[in-house]
Amino acid sequence: MYIHIPFCARRCDYCAFSTWTDRHFLRSAYVDACIAHVRLVQSGVVEVVCPNGDTTSTTCQPGPPATLYVGGGTPSQLEPADLSRLLEAVERQPATEVTIEANPDDVTETWAGTARRAGATRISLGVQSLDPVVLGGLGRAHGATAVASAVAAIARAGIASYSVDLIYGGAGETAESWRATLQGVLDLDPPPQHVSAYALTVEAGTPLSRHPSRHPDEDEQASRYEIADTIFEAAGLRWYEISNWAKPGFECRHNMNYWAQGDYLAIGAAAHGHLAGTRFRNTTLPERYVEAIASGRSPVVWSETLAPAARELEALELALRTRAGVPRANLPIGDDPVLARLVQADGGGNLVLSRRGRLLANEVACRLSASPMPSSEPSPRAARRPGRPASPGESARSAETQRETV
Ligand code: SF4
Repeated sequence: MYIHIPFCARRCDYCAFSTWTDRHFLRSAYVDACIAHVRLVQSGVVEVVCPNGDTTSTTCQPGPPATLYVGGGTPSQLEPADLSRLLEAVERQPATEVTIEANPDDVTETWAGTARRAGATRISLGVQSLDPVVLGGLGRAHGATAVASAVAAIARAGIASYSVDLIYGGAGETAESWRATLQGVLDLDPPPQHVSAYALTVEAGTPLSRHPSRHPDEDEQASRYEIADTIFEAAGLRWYEISNWAKPGFECRHNMNYWAQGDYLAIGAAAHGHLAGTRFRNTTLPERYVEAIASGRSPVVWSETLAPAARELEALELALRTRAGVPRANLPIGDDPVLARLVQADGGGNLVLSRRGRLLANEVACRLSASPMPSSEPSPRAARRPGRPASPGESARSAETQRETV
């Protein structure tokens, strides 16, 4: 289950996520709406939009979720009491992974204690950089001291693990300052069990988009990625998806479900869900979401079900982004020498992206899209694929939208 919290203290210069800085007055009503929505979907009712635009109810048997991810926006901008009642409203399994995204500035001992008592097992900290120049260029307000304090508070609260989000390619960043950020993150006490590092991207309409002098250089970003991969691997953090590294056993199970085209329920404004081959999205504006739930209307405004071939292609692209890779027989390399150079055998019959392939993952996806797919007729090989319906682009965007965003 994914719950979207669309409130931020301020908008970062690069951010195009669905979040607001002027809607904090809605927080309590918004949490009420999320709780009502949680109860509805946990009773087995999920609504989707038909091709003719009508909304219809469908039933599901979701059961307690294996993972719960509260993202945003900035979930740590919720009042502690609201965060507690929201988490406690979700019926969970004993081993449900519960991740909450947080801004380092918000993570006090009180906040971390509240999160732990409400069931958080993982905190995802939006650090981005430890270099004040880079943070300023990204429009971020916190500093390195706030990160150390937040990590100490998480540890004292007894939360099992935490992850750090980083961005590379910001203005003012050098190879040395990036190395210093990476080392600073690994030197945190305690060190993170999981790190995500994303290349800064320029999104249309953001303040960053209007300042070309702050735009990243792709070659430099490739070099930063290689530096990060080398340093993380040396510290025992293994890459398990292009932008994610973890100590063994600390991989984010919630995100792994996205990459396996698993089902997930969507709570909150702008949240995306996926159920039995249909993906859907809730209304974007928080006030509309609150109104819809309060008046008994569905918040779902869009859905789609993809054809089997498109779903199969998406499964291939998503699996290839992960360390697990894909069976050699499923990868239509054909006589494409470029594609052949970007993958390597993993020793167990699968092909995985080489480090260079990870840098050129979009190129790999484009080439796969242009390749004829292997037969989609039922076969033992096809039956083993995670073949749920999905749009390649939409899936990637959904996963991105619900990735670490604070
Ligand atoms: S990057 Fe994160 S913290 Fe910054 S405005 Fe976007 S959602 Fe909020």
